[in-house]
Amino acid sequence: MIKIEAFSEFISGLSNGFMPIISSLPKEQYALIDLSITNKELNTVDISCARSFEQYIRKFLEVNDAQVAYGGYNEKRGIYKRSTHFNQQDVNKERNIHLGIDLWCNANTAVLSPLCGKIHSFNNNDNYGDYGPTIILEHQYDDVVFYTLYGHLTIDSLSKTMIGEEISVGDTIGYLGDADVNGEYAPHLHFQIIKDIQGNIGDYPGVSNKSDIAFYLQNCPDPNLLLKIY
Ligand SMILES: [Zn+2]
Repeated sequence: MIKIEAFSEFISGLSNGFMPIISSLPKEQYALIDLSITNKELNTVDISCARSFEQYIRKFLEVNDAQVAYGGYNEKRGIYKRSTHFNQQDVNKERNIHLGIDLWCNANTAVLSPLCGKIHSFNNNDNYGDYGPTIILEHQYDDVVFYTLYGHLTIDSLSKTMIGEEISVGDTIGYLGDADVNGEYAPHLHFQIIKDIQGNIGDYPGVSNKSDIAFYLQNCPDPNLLLKIY
């Protein structure tokens, strides 16, 4: 069993360079977006409305001459305030720190597996603000087992998916859903690496509160270690 400290290094060693995950778009088409609470621009966007958020993303891509806006690992965000799915009565338990990487791109764009593995589980997590259709892959390299999660897909992505199905590097595992199915967000992929799935099926927390963040950052290392976008 690999030590948690060594897991990040292990993940980093699985790729030599950039790994396409959104269609086969090259990394020159990616632009880093700041969706943290420190981005004052977001104060002018109605984040409860997927359409105005989509407009914000579209404009960002246009200005940056890019097709994918990416970022968000360990990012403290204000966009979850709109949903009770993330907010409990106790403000200290408010979940607003993002644990995966988000890749914002057009709906129906193909999502490719960066690794070989098999389908662990899938589910439509259809709470407001949740992942919507979600697929989790299980990977084994030597004696190390870990998982990757793909959230905010189309409903159709799940209908063709079978538990245990083998997946090769570069296989299309689904397509980006739109706001009608993806938890009411602008279309994007939530991609997260998970060491210990903790018994979850088709779901795993993608956002943490402050008190649990140390555990989650260890269990879910920065996806860029694998994808090497920057
Ligand atoms: Zn996300």
